Amino acid sequence: MGRIGSALAGARRAAPDAATRGAPGTASPLAEGDATARAALLGNPARTEGLPAGLPSQGPRGAAAIAAQLRRAITDGLYGYGDRLPPEREIAKTLNTSRTTVRSALKQLEDARLVARKVGSGTFVVHGTRQDERDIAEITSPLELIEVRLALEPRMVRLAIIHGTARDFDHLGEALAQVEQSNGDTEHFTRWDLAFHLALATATRNPLMVWVYRQVNHVRNHTQWSAMKDKVLTRERMDAYNQEHRALYEAVRARDVTRATDLILRHLDEARIDLLGADST
Ligand SMILES: [Zn+2]
Repeated sequence: MGRIGSALAGARRAAPDAATRGAPGTASPLAEGDATARAALLGNPARTEGLPAGLPSQGPRGAAAIAAQLRRAITDGLYGYGDRLPPEREIAKTLNTSRTTVRSALKQLEDARLVARKVGSGTFVVHGTRQDERDIAEITSPLELIEVRLALEPRMVRLAIIHGTARDFDHLGEALAQVEQSNGDTEHFTRWDLAFHLALATATRNPLMVWVYRQVNHVRNHTQWSAMKDKVLTRERMDAYNQEHRALYEAVRARDVTRATDLILRHLDEARIDLLGADST
């Protein structure tokens, strides 16, 4: 299941909780409010990436459902500001729908000012540029980001184990399967690592935790880290991180709080040490 697929899963997951206001997985008013009206595209280097394979085939779906899936991938921060969405034909193929439906879904996102379409170059995300978000991303170093994650994620993992459902852990497993297929691709690794940790946040079932973690993702998408990651993320490190991801996933699945919190601490502390090493070279 892809980023887009996970986004849909989130929407599906929310359905039984529909009575619970602000349950994770529902489109929160905060996430909706993020949609900033920013028509002008900055000169970000566009990253293009196919939708990962493995989406369940669910038969033809309408433009609204496709738009909801894409919207969620964007508001979750899985596609950051300036990112180029995959081409229409690729989205259509991955989501098993027609190009006409995809075009209509993209039009809805454009009307909601989440994306802008540039003739000849594609569809770009123009969401997530609210001034305070940009400011915090610009003044937070990768090391400061890791320090915040160290403060946040051990507790997050604990809450994920206490409140997460089997379905939540399935989504965590799907993100794990994707990050494990990185094959040395730093871009793929970063996106799916981000989705893996976001799946943990979602499993806490705490709307504020999910919101806070989305902000972490927005900072992670920022160029300071983008510039850093090629230095830090060697093939060996990605493989080592993925072993930690799998061990963490298994501990969460087994609802072993002590082991899981210990593993997330080690995972982030290793990232911190790797960053310090990269900084001094
Ligand atoms: Zn990770």
